[in-house]
Amino acid sequence: MSYKASFNKKTFLFKQPSGTSRGVLTEKHAWFISLSELNTGNSETVEESLGECSIIPGLSPDFVDFDSYEKKLKEVCENITYYIENLSELEQYPSILFGVETALLGLKIQDEHKLFDTPFTRGEIGIPINGLIWMGSKEFMLQQIEEKVKVGFSCLKLKIGALDFDTELEILASIRKRFSASDIELRVDANGAFSLSDVFYKLERLSKFHLHSIEQPIKAGQWKEMAKICDATPLPIALDEELIGVIGRNKKTDLIQLINPQYIILKPSLHGGILGTKEWIQIANANSIPWWMTSALESNVGLNCVSQFASTFENSLPQGLGTGGLYENNTPSKLFIEGGHIFMSH
Ligand SMILES: [Mg+2]
Repeated sequence: MSYKASFNKKTFLFKQPSGTSRGVLTEKHAWFISLSELNTGNSETVEESLGECSIIPGLSPDFVDFDSYEKKLKEVCENITYYIENLSELEQYPSILFGVETALLGLKIQDEHKLFDTPFTRGEIGIPINGLIWMGSKEFMLQQIEEKVKVGFSCLKLKIGALDFDTELEILASIRKRFSASDIELRVDANGAFSLSDVFYKLERLSKFHLHSIEQPIKAGQWKEMAKICDATPLPIALDEELIGVIGRNKKTDLIQLINPQYIILKPSLHGGILGTKEWIQIANANSIPWWMTSALESNVGLNCVSQFASTFENSLPQGLGTGGLYENNTPSKLFIEGGHIFMSH
């Protein structure tokens, strides 16, 4: 089997500037790989399938600048048949790997929207998701929380570590005054904002609000310190950035067994594509570490694949899949969100 591929850059515009751990974003770049299978005997192509290579500058391990990224994409497209036969060679480039994997899945099926056959992709069930609360002023965050609760979310995720800590505690206190832990599950994400000297003090203060978990309290790359935190924390810890750039079964197993986190969070565009994410899941399951999957600002092409891939696992935890409505010029999609669940229309 041989293949042909090309790529195109696309810039998505946020409906409203969005506060993330990497600053306020107004636009987001992605590259679309267009893949087709070459008929044997002649060079006529049969069909085309799209995959999204989505990056977040400062976070994606495979993105340094536009030039070197496009150079790698060009090389991958020129040697696409080789890479499809040797996907693991792209593990250091998780966003490119995920784009190739998405396009490849799309080639093999009739309906390009249905990459996996699951009750979710057949439109029979939804996947519970967390409602994402964007960073901003206390008023803005509380307003978003009201709106999310009104439309049926019972699990919310808030970024913390950006505002003054006491203001963040006030926001959590006012949420908890209105909604108990059995009404609303609260996840917070510190994106590595706490220092080794204040992390236990902050976790202790946060734990008073009966939070479900906190993502990445300290910066990634401090395994021993993170292990101590996970061992003594009053509040469950979820690893996210910690998993970036950790490749191969042995290294992944070392990380999981040394740190022994309460949860891990998996983002195919950042954590090794579908191939690397499956490996994380096997290791997490073998070590009884629960996990959930999260999109990473992909447009609908990437989100569609992450959601469908997530639906192939039995996992009752809310997943982080609610970002499809972010962009003004998003690609068409069969995904929709209702009552705190993501669905695929049939
Ligand atoms: Mg996170």
